[in-house]
Amino acid sequence: MIIFGSRSVHINTEQLKNTNCPNCDTKESMLASVYRRHAHVFWIPVFPLSKFGATTCNHCKQTLRTNEMPSYIKTEFKRVKKNSKGPAWQFSGLILFALLIVFAGFASKSDRASEKMYLETPLVGDVYEYKLAYSQYSTMKIMQVTTDSIFVSLNDYEINKASRIYRIDKSENYSNKLYVYSKKEITDMYNSKIIFDINRE
Ligand SMILES: [Zn+2]
Repeated sequence: MIIFGSRSVHINTEQLKNTNCPNCDTKESMLASVYRRHAHVFWIPVFPLSKFGATTCNHCKQTLRTNEMPSYIKTEFKRVKKNSKGPAWQFSGLILFALLIVFAGFASKSDRASEKMYLETPLVGDVYEYKLAYSQYSTMKIMQVTTDSIFVSLNDYEINKASRIYRIDKSENYSNKLYVYSKKEITDMYNSKIIFDINRE
């Protein structure tokens, strides 16, 4: 399966001014056609690559590629090529990618906002993901909340990658033994990034 490739689209045709055909010498009979190539991934255009084209004489139908053009035609052709604008959709992939980044930014902002809310109003069942040491991560689950204290059960397991912490967050991994923290201690742990994520069902 081809996932990456390139395609070209016709973007402009224009008459060359003040030029005669090198073949039949007809005045202003030369038409320049310009194409723009773009890279595509899974058939989505990602970004433009290069412009190229040819001239054709209206009268004798001779077609000239860039390397076949006499210099006076090449100069005119280059000017037309430079002024030929390609369509914005050839950037579709990049635009899509930029939108995804913006969306991810919003998502992570709203994630942080709900974390702040979870921190300020803890509920039984909330899970704190925390760092024990370098490459050692685990979780604790809120079992009871009082006015100023939070009772948690610690996860019996730890894992070496924060991104895989969901693998150990299973109810059977939490022991019956309770530990108590003041709300302030929990907030301090969150602010110093020892607690780095809060999950609520
Ligand atoms: Zn001609």
